Amino acid sequence: MKLVNGFDLMEYAKKNNYVLPAFNTTNLEMTYAIANGLTEANLPGYIQISSNNLRLSNPRIIAEIARDAVKCSETPIGLHLDHGKSFEDVKACVEAGFTSIMVDASHLPYEENIAECKRTADYCHFYGIPVEAELGALQGKEEDIVNEAECKTDPDMVAEFVERTGCDVLAISIGNVHGLCLNPQIDIPLLAKINEVSSVPLVLHGGSGIPKEVIWECKKYGLIKINYGSDLRKEFVRTFGEEYEVDHNAHDVIHLSLAAVKNVSEKAKELVSMINEK
Ligand SMILES: [Zn+2]
Repeated sequence: MKLVNGFDLMEYAKKNNYVLPAFNTTNLEMTYAIANGLTEANLPGYIQISSNNLRLSNPRIIAEIARDAVKCSETPIGLHLDHGKSFEDVKACVEAGFTSIMVDASHLPYEENIAECKRTADYCHFYGIPVEAELGALQGKEEDIVNEAECKTDPDMVAEFVERTGCDVLAISIGNVHGLCLNPQIDIPLLAKINEVSSVPLVLHGGSGIPKEVIWECKKYGLIKINYGSDLRKEFVRTFGEEYEVDHNAHDVIHLSLAAVKNVSEKAKELVSMINEK
């Protein structure tokens, strides 16, 4: 298939009662692994890359790899910009053929944050591409910035934020944590409150470590997309690390890279199947 438009992907998920995983890529190996994992599970999802990782793989390169990776797949897969940190990154990704965009202007004061999200939504909507915005902040590490404070999404701000930004999907903070967290405390009552007042579907970042039963519960309250970065990255690093532990002279990059693709794709397949078991 071709990369699928983000609006179409969300419609497909809603119709079939799927949660869409969004798997973070960094390079060629991760991108093929994600596409392979989704294809083998025969379930839809996103390949996504954060602004931070565009330092290694610029939007044109990663879009080209992604198009190639999904061409033999028969399950819908979109290409998403995760934590788009600048309008320049957003434009470069749209021009490169990304099918879904997140704007992260959370470093700005509230009114400027809204203005930046609105500007991004207006731009992307001209090209028929949906925009994810974030209200609230997550603990953990993202974009090399470590956030110690947890700032859960305030349900009283949701309706106004969604309306004023024009966003099509909303990332929220309800106890989810960026990075590897073994026991995140997901606040389901808060999610239920947010879902009541939100006119758009909801996204959880920091999916690694959230138990499947909790995700199934979230599905009842508007969850449409869940981000996974750390779980896949760990598989990638583990593949090389284990070989190095055994042999400090290990240098067979092609076999290790192929093994990394296999290990990461198995993890992606496991996760997408797990969240859609119910
Ligand atoms: Zn995130």
